[in-house]
Amino acid sequence: MTDEPVAELLRRLVRDVPDFPQPGVVFKDIAPLLADGAAFAAVIGHFADRYRERVDAVVGIEARGFMLAAPLAIELGVGFVPVRKAGKLPGQTHQVSYDLEYGTASVEVQVDAFTPGQRVLVLDDVLATGGTAEASCELVEKAGAEVVELAMLMELSFLRGRERLPGRAVHSLLTV
Ligand code: AMP
Repeated sequence: MTDEPVAELLRRLVRDVPDFPQPGVVFKDIAPLLADGAAFAAVIGHFADRYRERVDAVVGIEARGFMLAAPLAIELGVGFVPVRKAGKLPGQTHQVSYDLEYGTASVEVQVDAFTPGQRVLVLDDVLATGGTAEASCELVEKAGAEVVELAMLMELSFLRGRERLPGRAVHSLLTV
């Protein structure tokens, strides 16, 4: 573990990659954070302190959300549920579509992913425009669970994602 505040760890270990995956986008690469065992443990520990006894499951949003949600679920002693892009999950699924700058995207969860009324945390790495996060919350609710909070490592405030999430509790470790 480390005593460095989690926001400082993120400032130091999340790398800006200009023009990826397309020109004009500055990609927030969390690989250096995941590769630093003490820093990764500190981030998961921060979330575990915040959500212990408050949630019955942790939902990770494909794909980097999985890398955070799975270790957190184990730390909390609860289950992990994946929200995936359309067409990846077998069996019956619920689906929610949302607008992108060009076109639409869809996310899915298996219909039997939750027991009714389960309290869940929805976790991802980056909050950008908020479309993915909002669709994921709607999906969790469609499947019969309750979203306690949305948590992100980083929030890109200039993209105003929070405005797309009215009434939702959103916890970001670092806002840039
Ligand atoms: P959005 O729906 O616009 O909030 O986008 C959020 C999703 O896209 C998350 O799953 C992020 O992992 C990913 N994402 C969006 N923008 C970035 C970025 N600048 N760097 C890294 N991931 C991003």
